[in-house]
Amino acid sequence: MLVVYPMAETEEKTGPPVTLIDPIDMSKLDSKFREELKSMPNGEELSACFACSTCTAACPIANMWTYKPHQLIRMILLGMKEEVLSSNEIWLCLTCYQCQERCPQKVRVTDIFFDCKNLAAEQGRVPPKVIALAKELLTKGQLYTVTADWEREDMGLEPEVPGLSVDAVKSILEGTRTKRLAGGDE
Ligand code: SF4
Ligand code: SF4
Repeated sequence: MLVVYPMAETEEKTGPPVTLIDPIDMSKLDSKFREELKSMPNGEELSACFACSTCTAACPIANMWTYKPHQLIRMILLGMKEEVLSSNEIWLCLTCYQCQERCPQKVRVTDIFFDCKNLAAEQGRVPPKVIALAKELLTKGQLYTVTADWEREDMGLEPEVPGLSVDAVKSILEGTRTKRLAGGDE
């Protein structure tokens, strides 16, 4: 069996390690996955990644991830579709764009993780907590309950949050895939 070796592990991790001695089964790699992501608007510079790990160094939560950002990008380039789309990390991303802003090769790391989430969702691989959030958005039009009027008054704020239209948010979401994600019709 031909094997290639993934990136060296970084120091802190919480799950199964990705080490220099973990072999990858080449027969399970899917090169179409890499091409699929490369063909998307965010994938133009994907192949330019030279594994410098700057994205991981910039990521505020990478030390809690089993697969670090640079490793996920490498896994995508190798065609490790199953591992990437079933990983928790793509859903844990804070979308802070620190990685993407600092990538010297202009790889759109954050946006590529978004694309991975969309592909995972198409396969029905969405963490229950994300589905719960989608339901919350659909039914309430917001994720966080705005403080009661008297509390806002005490703080010297207007009774209503300026510009917040819960009904408009709900109406917009009715026409998106969020409804299907939450278990309703698209
Ligand atoms: S910073 Fe950019 S080039 Fe460096 S490993 Fe991350 S994605 Fe690749
Ligand atoms: S966007 Fe996601 S992967 Fe990139 S630095 Fe922020 S949390 Fe980490």
